[in-house]
Amino acid sequence: MKALIAGNWKMNLNLNEAIELVEKLKNSCSNARDDILICPSFVYLQKVGELIKDSNILLGAQNMYFEKKGAFTGEVSAQMLVDMGVKYVICGHSERRNIFNENDEIVYKKVFSALQNDLIPILCVGENLTERENNVYLEKVRNQIEYIFKKINFENNSESAGRIVIAYEPIWAIGTGKNALPKDAFLMHKTIRATLQEIVGSVFANSIRIIYGGSVNPENIDDLMNVSQIDGVLVGGASLSFESFNRIINYKVTQC
Ligand code: PEP
Repeated sequence: MKALIAGNWKMNLNLNEAIELVEKLKNSCSNARDDILICPSFVYLQKVGELIKDSNILLGAQNMYFEKKGAFTGEVSAQMLVDMGVKYVICGHSERRNIFNENDEIVYKKVFSALQNDLIPILCVGENLTERENNVYLEKVRNQIEYIFKKINFENNSESAGRIVIAYEPIWAIGTGKNALPKDAFLMHKTIRATLQEIVGSVFANSIRIIYGGSVNPENIDDLMNVSQIDGVLVGGASLSFESFNRIINYKVTQC
């Protein structure tokens, strides 16, 4: 399957910086072997979308609201994202869960609404440091996956489930400079795949991309992308500079 290399800009880059970065990426990505995605803030989606229109860079959003329309001040619907040319949307990022109190039910509603509007949700899951230290990290992530996929399956929608991307993002590794060791990421990705196989069956489970996020940078990208269960990366800080994101996009493959 084609890997997904995604940049989550979070609340960073001003308009000029965003334009400069996109122009450089456009040139360097013309022969990219993978799906390359950038997720600017809502207010720059239109501009960035126009700039990448004739390139093979894909446009993503960092969040959305699950309702179709109405009195939800400050929120943005799936259809509004589609109107801007957005193809992917990050759902349940740990910063949304922790700072904005999004729980599994809210994340489920966002994933479901995204699928109904033909957006590809990037569902973020991951454990915090205490959960890792207490050795309950596999269970934590399994529960997060089960909560969402069992509901989607319940609604007889397993084909849609196959389009979801899962981002395993250990919270202790986000923005901290610490990243999961390739063997730890391998174990978690294998566990996620097995959980999915139980819920949606092997065909759909095996078509779901499971990507890794957490302090991905030019120094660790080659090791991570050579782990057999890692189908791409979600990159925060290192996606903000052309040099580092470009090096990540051009990771070296050593595995046959
Ligand atoms: C993220 O924002 O999803 C992320 C993984 O951030 P960073 O790469 O900076 O750790």
